[in-house]
Amino acid sequence: MSNCRQRSITTNIRHRWDICRGALSTTSLSCLAAQNRDTDRRPHILQFHRGIKSSCGTDHGSATHGVQDERVFFFDIDNCLYPKSSGIPYLMKQRIEQYFRDSGIPHHEVETLAHRYYVDYGLAIRGLIEKHPDIDISDYDDKVDGGLPLENILKPKPPLRDMIRSMKVGKKWLFTNAGKYHANRVIKILGLQGLFDGMTFCNYLEPHFVCKPDRKAFEKAMKEARVQNPAFCYFVDDSAPNIAMAIKMGWTAVHVDECLSELPPVGHFQIHSVVDLPKVLPQFWDHGESELRTQKRT
Ligand SMILES: [Mg+2]
Repeated sequence: MSNCRQRSITTNIRHRWDICRGALSTTSLSCLAAQNRDTDRRPHILQFHRGIKSSCGTDHGSATHGVQDERVFFFDIDNCLYPKSSGIPYLMKQRIEQYFRDSGIPHHEVETLAHRYYVDYGLAIRGLIEKHPDIDISDYDDKVDGGLPLENILKPKPPLRDMIRSMKVGKKWLFTNAGKYHANRVIKILGLQGLFDGMTFCNYLEPHFVCKPDRKAFEKAMKEARVQNPAFCYFVDDSAPNIAMAIKMGWTAVHVDECLSELPPVGHFQIHSVVDLPKVLPQFWDHGESELRTQKRT
């Protein structure tokens, strides 16, 4: 086995303030686990095919030969389905901090507080709600996410669409800390509409809403995706804390980051781009997508 071997739970994660949605991220000392297979965690479902319309209108199929494919693949959205190098994280950080300033937070405290709230609550806005309940955050979506010039930055990504479309799994589920409007907007711009069976998102107006990496958010995602066994849950995300919690939950977790060379590793697998998923979890493309997989491996 190469030095890109599969890893178990990784601790010792060094965090840095990363900006997008107040997100922490990490990079890793390890190289890409490009040729790994999760043979020891693979659910015992090997034969299935696609083509059955789901209630959500996607083209995925979940059963054949009387065998239900119970696996659910959870996809993060921001900084995962598009790269951090898009510049969106920086723009989002600026808007979050401006929102804090407009909310009456002293200017010299804004950056520190936004960071601290993210660390303590998983989202900067979550901390703002908890610590400053007098602040009306009903316009948060409009002022922070809604004003992002996403259409000028993101473009449709046919290879990503092809990869997700050709994936053979019971359900494909979006799992984001973003609000519903922003999440759907990103998915539309990337040309990924119709590929997912559902989405777990944050409603910032909901009292005590939960967000990743809170365990309750993962439990909520499992409930909404109607999967009970964590061994059937797969996850790709750019946030190290989110990956760490997924592993604690018993999920199989893939950390995606453009820079995998600076910090300790996290997750069962690490990839530079989400389109590299077939390299580390080829079993999802084992039937009829060998061409795609071969292309990714060369
Ligand atoms: Mg993310």
